[in-house]
Amino acid sequence: MEQTFAMVKPGAVQRELIGEIITRFEKKGIKLVGLKLMQMSEELAKQHYAEHTEKPFFDELVKGITAGPVVAMVLEGENVINIVRTMAGATRPSDALPGTIRGDYVLDTGKNVIHTSDSKESAIREINLFFKKEEIINYSLATETWIYVLP
Ligand code: UDP
Repeated sequence: MEQTFAMVKPGAVQRELIGEIITRFEKKGIKLVGLKLMQMSEELAKQHYAEHTEKPFFDELVKGITAGPVVAMVLEGENVINIVRTMAGATRPSDALPGTIRGDYVLDTGKNVIHTSDSKESAIREINLFFKKEEIINYSLATETWIYVLP
């Protein structure tokens, strides 16, 4: 099974959307295998967004993601990297379709409520950046036989 990293950003914590966002993943059948409320340091923020170091919005990005607590999570399931990204919706609010998290809750790119890994490599990198091995729990859900066609 594939794993991906997702994060409820500070604005969504303030807007009390944590439950709403996690509920969407649960209802889809995606399994939560890691979860924590945390305050990101500036150092962690810079590491997390290292690919954007040269972008004009980098300072705002670091400031925004450290402005309050975030909820970091590891999600597991078939094709979850792409599925979770699709559920999050497009980066630009005008492209984010209704029914996606950003499509339903975002008006400004800089306040786009959720981060999701964009590839297998970033999923591995981000999971390792935020979670220790022992913080990721290996368990079965009783519903799995009703979610997947198992061999
Ligand atoms: N961002 C921004 N202005 C931009 C582009 C991106 O503030 O013009 C922020 C936005 O919060 C976005 C994050 O930078 O979520 C990372 O950008 P990326 O292109 O990786 O988008 P994502 O993968 O989050 O959709």
